[in-house]
Amino acid sequence: MKFLITGGAGFIGSHLSEDLLGSGHSVVAIDDLSTGRMQNVHALSHNNKFQLVVESITNATVMDRLVSECDIIVHLAAAVGVELIVRSPVHTIETNVMGTENVLRTARRYRKKILIASTSEIYGKLGNVPFNEDDDSLIGATTHHRWAYATSKMLDEFLALAYHKEMGLPVVIFRLFNTIGPRQRGRYGMVVPRFVRQALSGSDITVYGDGNQSRCFCDVRDVIPAITALAESSKAEGRVFNIGAKDEITIIDLARKVKNMCDSQSSIILVPYEQATEQGFEDMRRRIPDTSRINELIGWNPSITLDDTIADIIQQFKEDGLSDPITERPIVERVVVD
Ligand code: UDP
Repeated sequence: MKFLITGGAGFIGSHLSEDLLGSGHSVVAIDDLSTGRMQNVHALSHNNKFQLVVESITNATVMDRLVSECDIIVHLAAAVGVELIVRSPVHTIETNVMGTENVLRTARRYRKKILIASTSEIYGKLGNVPFNEDDDSLIGATTHHRWAYATSKMLDEFLALAYHKEMGLPVVIFRLFNTIGPRQRGRYGMVVPRFVRQALSGSDITVYGDGNQSRCFCDVRDVIPAITALAESSKAEGRVFNIGAKDEITIIDLARKVKNMCDSQSSIILVPYEQATEQGFEDMRRRIPDTSRINELIGWNPSITLDDTIADIIQQFKEDGLSDPITERPIVERVVVD
């Protein structure tokens, strides 16, 4: 099959491209390289079944041609990362709403199956973990820019499901929970690569808030087989699926784990949210997926441990070096906890 992957040079897109090529498929990746990187797909550039188109998904002419020539679309291109979203809310809303609208309209024109990446951010500030696909959302006020991401992705989901209902377009939505692994960068917020980078360079490991908020981290190499199985399943069409791990860890314990595994002399410090992001920033205390739906359909369960993933991320940073710096905000109050 010929896959069109939007955001194909990004962290998840590059792992997906690699996996599909390994299974004998052809891949066309479209990426504007805003957060995607050439380096992510460098190893694929000699494969004659792989093609990278450096262009925006909002370019209707290019998308028309690429969609007409593919068998199936995986739409990953989006503005992601809490820091990027808070810093550039216009870019976030425009990319996530207009981009997806264009991809869906083109998919409909050629009646191509489309998988759309969504996010656990959609559950918002809900407290009743684990989150089920049919749960309500609890999104904060529009003055908090973080929620622009959840809302834009929610609109993507509504539009995709509407195309399915009204026009019979084969769409599948998957909501990714915290996904980590080699090639992910910390520049736009993601906590694990940030901590690894900080620990390896001997800088302070910056834990936001009190560090007692928790997350479940899933290795991208567990996430990819879930996406490819959904692509193959006609029973997935018109439905929404959570993809994520269940093992929960607090961010302060994550900082300690990364520090130990890097054998680092860094200090672990607490940074108030308003210093780290924006005034009034709202974080989720806990975020755990209910994955029974995807498990029932395709028998999916993640298997890679957090320790193994962190070890691979450390290894990758050591091989690639610590270029691609993260912009740290000046820390006014430095509370060392470890
Ligand atoms: N976080 C942190 N220090 C950092 C970056 C993030 O303590 O340098 C925290 C962040 O506030 C959140 C958690 O780590 O509670 C996960 O953040 P990430 O941006 O990776 O994903 P999120 O779950 O917020 O989408």
